Amino acid sequence: MSKNDVFDICILGGGPGGYHAAIRSAQYGAKVALVEKDKVGGTCLNRGCIPTKALYASAKLLEDILEKGSSFGIEVSDIKPNFSKAVERKNKVVEELVSGVESLLKQNKVSLFHGFGSLVGGQDLNFKIKIEGNDNTEITSKKVIIATGSAPAMIPAFNIDHERILTSDDILDPNFKVLPKKLLIIGAGVIGCEFGNIFRRMGSEVEMLEYLPTPIATEEKLIIRQITKKFESMGIKIHVSQNVLNVENTGNGVKATTCSADIPRDQIDSAEKTEFTADYCLVSIGRQRVSQGLNCEKMGIKTNRGQIVVDLKTLETDCKGIYAIGDVTGGIMLAHVAYYEANVAVANALASIGNFGVDPMVADYSVVPATIFTSPEIGSVGIREKAAKEKGIKTFVGRFGYASLGKAKCMGEEEGFMMIIADANTDEILGASCIGAEAPELIAEVALAMRNGLKVHDISKTIHSHPTISEIVQETAEDVHGMAIHKKGRRR
Ligand SMILES: Cc1cc2nc3c(=O)[nH]c(=O)nc-3n(C[C@H](O)[C@H](O)[C@H](O)COP(=O)(O)OP(=O)(O)OC[C@H]3O[C@@H](n4cnc5c(N)ncnc54)[C@H](O)[C@@H]3O)c2cc1C
Repeated sequence: MSKNDVFDICILGGGPGGYHAAIRSAQYGAKVALVEKDKVGGTCLNRGCIPTKALYASAKLLEDILEKGSSFGIEVSDIKPNFSKAVERKNKVVEELVSGVESLLKQNKVSLFHGFGSLVGGQDLNFKIKIEGNDNTEITSKKVIIATGSAPAMIPAFNIDHERILTSDDILDPNFKVLPKKLLIIGAGVIGCEFGNIFRRMGSEVEMLEYLPTPIATEEKLIIRQITKKFESMGIKIHVSQNVLNVENTGNGVKATTCSADIPRDQIDSAEKTEFTADYCLVSIGRQRVSQGLNCEKMGIKTNRGQIVVDLKTLETDCKGIYAIGDVTGGIMLAHVAYYEANVAVANALASIGNFGVDPMVADYSVVPATIFTSPEIGSVGIREKAAKEKGIKTFVGRFGYASLGKAKCMGEEEGFMMIIADANTDEILGASCIGAEAPELIAEVALAMRNGLKVHDISKTIHSHPTISEIVQETAEDVHGMAIHKKGRRR
């Protein structure tokens, strides 16, 4: 398509939300423009999910060889990590996936514009979008989807200088190849814990500072306990309830000053301080939404501290015909949520144009699985046990350990457990959490069951292949009723 034609949909931002929306729209037969100021794939492919998991794979392989190799009958001598090589592999994985997305866009005849996109006027069915960068042009589109994502939060007190005091973007930069002797991580949330696990496995000394009383605070209590114990056994020091007041680059390292998170603001000056030093500091304490320069105000799009406010059912903004998806909306900041929202926004945008044979969609966030790639891995979906109790729901909880699973024993993956929380009256699955081998994959089965209204009994009745790790889902479901075969206990 030429830039002078009217596009059906123009998408700003080519991350997981944006490129999904572009391909999905094209599959429905729409004329699509995608505007990306950097590389397609966005945070996820270039600076997020994929590079972290590629490095995690190196760390996990090393762990397996070191911890299991010999007892599995495999003698390998002189095993040592080569971080620079792991980074090169990570870079290759990223490059291949980014070029895969580029070719999918081409194949689907999406017009890709390289540059910074902004909204310069017009209204529904006739929006004007300016592109500045490698492509300098203005295009017209009937509908717009904003998918401009997020970037690391820049906290002034942390003096992020991108040399010693780093964001996740810096530490995943293709040229960051020197393994820190000691890494200080601020923030023991999902991203902080994933990096802590990777760098410790690769040989760095790792210390973590967390404001809350526990790491990964949103997970099930038992899971937090297990991962904390595991990190301690690996030599990762997690300091919880720490208020980081300041971080400085000392020339050849970093120094962070903290006080207890319990100290009220007005007493911080006189409070006892603790200092932590390291070679590098990774700040992983959150993300800011990227909506600057889009001209939201001019277009009548409401924002709240950078996040674009949308109707949570349709994903339309306050400006008719303009939708927003993914991290920029300030919702659940996960790539698969951005994918899902792309489907919703595209359906609603195209349905309102007509002629595409698409029905409108209502967004439904009732079942959103989440994963953490530490070792052991973690997966969860739905409600936590405590939250169910707080809601006054009478629950039955099934628990089953990997140690009782034949396949897990064969693999040397006996660490961890799964739990399923069910409504005691209706047998409805309310949530599940899992820590152990393939936990993120296993949780998908529970998510599918929940999304489709299946009950605990439906999982129990489903034949699962033997021997597989997936049998843990069936055994845990059976344990909800006290009927797991490979667990000692009484029928409920
Ligand atoms: C270290 C890390 C690990 C993560 N791991 C996981 C994980 O394992 N699983 C998971 O589900 N999620 C993970 N995430 C989160 C995930 O990356 C994000 O939720 C996801 O990328 C959001 O997608 P998005 O399309 O909304 O935005 P983004 O991926 O941020 O993409 C936005 C795109 O828009 C472009 N852009 C911005 N403004 C403009 C403009 N005006 N014009 C043109 N282009 C513009 C940007 O260059 C970018 O390419 C991780 C994040 C990080 C930081």
